[in-house]
Amino acid sequence: MNLSVRVIVETVNETGEVKSHSVISTKSVTSPCSLVDLGYRQTEQVEMLQHIQQALLDEQSCFLQENTPRCPRCNNKITRNGYVKSNFHGVYTDHKVSTRKQICLKCKWKSIPSIDSLFGSAIHPDLAKIQTEMGAKHSYRDAEKILTLLSSKKRSINNHERVKKTTECIGEYLSLSLGNDSSIESQAADKLCIQVDGGYVNTIEADKKRFEVMTAVIFDPEQIDYHGGQLKQDGAISTLRGKLTSKHCAASALADEQSYLKQAALESAIKQGMTKDTSMTAICDGADNCWNVINAIAPHCHDITRILDWFHIAMKFENLSLNNQTLREKTKRAKWHLWRGYPDRAIIRLEEIKNNLQEKKEQRKLTKLMNYIANNIECIIDYRQRQKNGMIFTSQLAESTVESLINQRCKRQQHMRWSRKGLHSLLQVRASISSNSWQEHWERYVGEAMLKTAA
Ligand SMILES: [Zn+2]
Repeated sequence: MNLSVRVIVETVNETGEVKSHSVISTKSVTSPCSLVDLGYRQTEQVEMLQHIQQALLDEQSCFLQENTPRCPRCNNKITRNGYVKSNFHGVYTDHKVSTRKQICLKCKWKSIPSIDSLFGSAIHPDLAKIQTEMGAKHSYRDAEKILTLLSSKKRSINNHERVKKTTECIGEYLSLSLGNDSSIESQAADKLCIQVDGGYVNTIEADKKRFEVMTAVIFDPEQIDYHGGQLKQDGAISTLRGKLTSKHCAASALADEQSYLKQAALESAIKQGMTKDTSMTAICDGADNCWNVINAIAPHCHDITRILDWFHIAMKFENLSLNNQTLREKTKRAKWHLWRGYPDRAIIRLEEIKNNLQEKKEQRKLTKLMNYIANNIECIIDYRQRQKNGMIFTSQLAESTVESLINQRCKRQQHMRWSRKGLHSLLQVRASISSNSWQEHWERYVGEAMLKTAA
């Protein structure tokens, strides 16, 4: 017995009467020689979806018209005037959809709508979501390749320029809606941690090489996952980096004296549960622009403990790399004082070392380090005690937000160069995805972003 599997699309009315009937595919049932023969091939599946989707779209066509019962020009009654076809892009397939034309017989005013003019976009939100996530995670060209694989063929809607356009459109919407997000519902937190840090990316601007991008992350310091472990409490600084399981991120590539990041960080903190009663711990690398963001948060919480990031202190000592073995040992003593929260003693030690140095270059390094300590003296705490108490004092305990938000996407290839505007939009999407707000709200974001483009 030779069997076939037939896929049929039917249109039925409410009584079940078949109004139209078409065969989408007929596939004979054969014994599979290999896995390849098991079920439908990807191209066959996409082909069927193409027909099924088109059948529904054709039936929806009669509803697709401009909602103007009267002529907007002369108020005369308007008349149906046939159909016109326009593009529509679903997740896997592209379509031509008929929309109804209308005409005013008196003044000849015409309505010739398209899916784009009726809905603000010809891209289904499901596709826009996938394009945005792919564009946020991968280079736009890699995103194009992945999308081509998914729909089993090249589609011009998925070329890298279009993926970039969609991603930036959503990112721009997120950027503009800062401060108007009414969906903030969070559980009040007693204690939160904020880290602000900057990183550099290459620019497309002709006269510059790179520009600074800043990030902020607000998280619950009790919820760092070390692959099942707890916040590490003993031993030297761990090289193991945990994952922040409860956090909100913000990022900015704008040259606006941190005005955007201040607002975005504040909003992220509120989303993470910051209230007037919350005790905040701020960990920064010591740059003024980072502390500026912290200072903007300060009036909105109960108190802030400002801590100079131990990770950056340790890095600065490592970068000294003095030639003289004895003096190198002495720098360790200076670091030892910092570790116990005695910056004054550390500066005295460093001054002694500096006076024993011959090379101008090494002296300059020491001066720089002493200035760094002096400038941040209020934020140098007893790190050893904090570590004993299992409290956070370094950004190194957890994943780096600069790394995850910026570097992983922006430094994937050596030649990657960015405009501030394009990167800023992209970072808003990446921040939203890593704050878990994307999963919950993407449909609203995509819908409103697309509408806004049309207006
Ligand atoms: Zn008219």
